[in-house]
Amino acid sequence: MDNSVTWYWPTWAASAPLPVFRVRDTESSHGRYALELKTIGVKDLVKFHGHACDGLFRGAMALAVALPVLFPDNIVDRTDLRVISRNSPCLGDVAAYLTGGRVRFNSQDVVNQAGVWFVLEQISTGHRVRVEENPDGYPESLSDEEAQFVSTGVATPEQLDRLQAAQWDWVTSVLLKTPRETLYTVRRLPEDSWEDVPYAHRGPRTDVLFKDVPRTIDR
Ligand SMILES: [Zn+2]
Repeated sequence: MDNSVTWYWPTWAASAPLPVFRVRDTESSHGRYALELKTIGVKDLVKFHGHACDGLFRGAMALAVALPVLFPDNIVDRTDLRVISRNSPCLGDVAAYLTGGRVRFNSQDVVNQAGVWFVLEQISTGHRVRVEENPDGYPESLSDEEAQFVSTGVATPEQLDRLQAAQWDWVTSVLLKTPRETLYTVRRLPEDSWEDVPYAHRGPRTDVLFKDVPRTIDR
């Protein structure tokens, strides 16, 4: 796993107590389950998402609390998950990368509900959990300011600088210093039927169809 320091991954992030995820995937376009696992860190999420941000860190922490409830062996099966989150650029990307859920395969959706939260569903079992950031976790003054900038589309350079500094100050002084189970609460949900994603072009995820086919003798 790449955790080296670079311009978008500063020293404090590389040495921070961030979650690491072990995932299982298939091995080719029509492949079986891979025998080996991959390890994904938050720097990998940054490369996918485009930047480090408080939302990426908070989403990773929340999923680090929720995923072990569905996968007690701490191996996340990215062929077997559906996920719902708020339609935040950061939270939706964390959700897709770590679960394998995609809108186009009917396995990722968004709901317009504020906060850092995810609903996860293990497809094979129907088991569902919801993880949420506790209401007093993130300063309300910051979320109010973020919402105001987005709704008005107006922010001065100084305001943006102050917001970014305040977000990282909260990450380093609270998020990284607090046991993640204190900030994020996970609970099981009743097994429920997934509501199809209203996206007309969705189709089957063909790279997981044959994951359980036995291997031939020489492989
Ligand atoms: Zn972001």
